[in-house]
Amino acid sequence: MASQPIPGIQADGWFREESTMWPGQALSLKVDKVLFDGQSDYQRLTIFKSSEEGKWGNVMVLDGAVQLTDRDEFVYHEMMAHVPLCAHPSPKTVLIIGGGDGGVMREVLKHDEVERCDLVDIDGLVIEQSKVHFPQVAQSFFHPKANTTVGDGAAFVQGKENEYDVIIVDSSDPEGPASVLFGEEFYSNVKRCLKPGGIVCSQGESAWLHLHLIEKMTTFLRNDIKFASVRYGMIYIPTYPCGSIGCLMGAKDAETDVTKPIRELPLAVQEKLKYYTADLHRAAFALPAFAKQLNQDA
Ligand code: SAM
Repeated sequence: MASQPIPGIQADGWFREESTMWPGQALSLKVDKVLFDGQSDYQRLTIFKSSEEGKWGNVMVLDGAVQLTDRDEFVYHEMMAHVPLCAHPSPKTVLIIGGGDGGVMREVLKHDEVERCDLVDIDGLVIEQSKVHFPQVAQSFFHPKANTTVGDGAAFVQGKENEYDVIIVDSSDPEGPASVLFGEEFYSNVKRCLKPGGIVCSQGESAWLHLHLIEKMTTFLRNDIKFASVRYGMIYIPTYPCGSIGCLMGAKDAETDVTKPIRELPLAVQEKLKYYTADLHRAAFALPAFAKQLNQDA
């Protein structure tokens, strides 16, 4: 356990998610007990059990920012996996960058077509502690098609070519080790790693808070990296700042329309999903007026 004060944990028994990335606002959750707190080479990892009253279960925090809670983790994990995989005709090879809790990989591996799912997270501590405190999420690390590497995702995609049908960038916020995952050089490497027909789906931050960052990214993805199409989908999730996060998508070929599902999961799998549906897939790309420019090509 680390000896410095735990980011966000207050003397009154509440966690408060204050950050310069969302100034003047903060989600609060009542803490029952801290289950783990430690400093890795990259970030401060805290896991606490929230109070029974709130029903959010265990909560993972990196440098004071909530990464997931037991209660609503399915929202983000289902969308980040099923939107790109259902928009791809035959997703056989998948790379996840970040995603050290295992949640996106759990969803990816529900697609029988996937032959190999590589995951590269910079922080082995996140993987190790997720297995202990989020076993229902981290179960994916034990799947025979899962192939896990501890390392920098930006370095991993350098020098690779034509390897993946789908790349999912499940990163933390653009402060700290993930900042490199929001830059142009990284995306130019990602595009080269995609096979023809490939799709990238990235944690796209919240349109309420980071519209300028998202606009900057959609602009360089379209104009400089030259993805054939770029789209931003909105995901509604209670415990991310402003209750929303985005999936920022890029398709390598013009024939690919990431906003439309063209494959279905087996019915038995579909029935167990709690957020993703084919209708919601299409609807996620219908944006409010203040953000609609994100999905306009010209
Ligand atoms: N969607 C979640 C969120 O934004 O709250 C992110 C969850 S996941 C835990 C984020 C992961 O990204 C972390 O495990 C972190 O270690 C990893 N990460 C950050 N920078 C990275 C990098 N450069 N390469 C690979 N993984 C990275």
